[in-house]
Amino acid sequence: MLDARDFRTFRKQLLPWFRQFRRDLPWRRTRDPYRIWLSEIMLQQTRVAAVIPYYERFVDRFPDVRALAGSPEEEVLRLWSGLGYYSRARNLQKAARQIVAQHGGQFPTKLDEALALPGIGNYTAAAILSIAYEERFAVLDGNVARVLARLGALRGDLRESRRWQELQRVADTYLDPESPGDWNQAMMELGATLCTPKSPECLLCPVSQFCEGRKLGIAESLPEKRKKRATVEVTLAAAVFTDTNGLTLLLSPSQEKNKQDAPDHIPTLVSRMWHFPTVSITKNPAAELRRFLQDFPSAAKHPKLQLEPLVKVRHSVTYRAITIAPFVVNVKQLPRVPGAKCIPLREISSLPVSNLTRKVARAALAAAIPVAKKP
Ligand code: SF4
Repeated sequence: MLDARDFRTFRKQLLPWFRQFRRDLPWRRTRDPYRIWLSEIMLQQTRVAAVIPYYERFVDRFPDVRALAGSPEEEVLRLWSGLGYYSRARNLQKAARQIVAQHGGQFPTKLDEALALPGIGNYTAAAILSIAYEERFAVLDGNVARVLARLGALRGDLRESRRWQELQRVADTYLDPESPGDWNQAMMELGATLCTPKSPECLLCPVSQFCEGRKLGIAESLPEKRKKRATVEVTLAAAVFTDTNGLTLLLSPSQEKNKQDAPDHIPTLVSRMWHFPTVSITKNPAAELRRFLQDFPSAAKHPKLQLEPLVKVRHSVTYRAITIAPFVVNVKQLPRVPGAKCIPLREISSLPVSNLTRKVARAALAAAIPVAKKP
């Protein structure tokens, strides 16, 4: 562990490095807590380059907390569509409504109030409060944990509860009390740009002289690998209905939560968004899908319902490896399913849909399904 003098030197070297070399990112041009909060939520599990266009579209459409709170959820999900992990968007809007109702539209400045908002955990609260308000809270996420593990040559599974708590104490000790916002960003930037998971660039590192992992020659092997949850294979079949006008049928988002832990829970797999009629399969995709469609009203009951197979689609959702067998179902008239929408296949992105649904639509479009006629 560093002594007080080392800490001063460490900070003196890291902060100027960050201020000189930091990436120019849209959310770094503001201290608006709403925009910092939005960026932190979007960046969870998602790369910076992927987030930037979504962030810009989102702030354009919802420039502040009140605009977000006052919009229909469907509009929020539509702008989030393609970014994945849609519970983030739902929680973001729930939190925005809570901020308007309880905090006058201003993101709270107190840690316990921030943590009481949906979708905000320790890391996100510390990031927003330090960057927007210069509150002294150290962030700890995967990037920072990796940097700290290498600096201290810490072994073992960092996500193990006691070790994570210990890392949080270490992060608190490193925090620069004079510039907590920049400090947290500097630690994250170091992890994102130089102290990367593979091949850390120690020769360019502004604090390499303090790094035990580098001195021991084990930096690259830290942190040690976690035991991953075993992958579960899931097989689905989906029906891409097409009527004579080239319209298709999308079912409404389901809020049904029963069995949501089951690997083949369809509402979870389609991120509780608009989706093609889809069923989990055990053996025979066409036969099982046809049986599933028998419960649909009108056209689907037609005894000669023809299912034309499309190219299979692969997708993964957390630990699930999904294979989906899409079928085109040509009908004169689409089934009338309560709450469902009839929409041109090319325009499904005008509704909030998951990446899984997009892939199925692409497979159908690639097979040259007739597109909707213009009225
Ligand atoms: S010296 Fe290398 S391993 Fe250590 S913190 Fe810097 S980049 Fe990471």
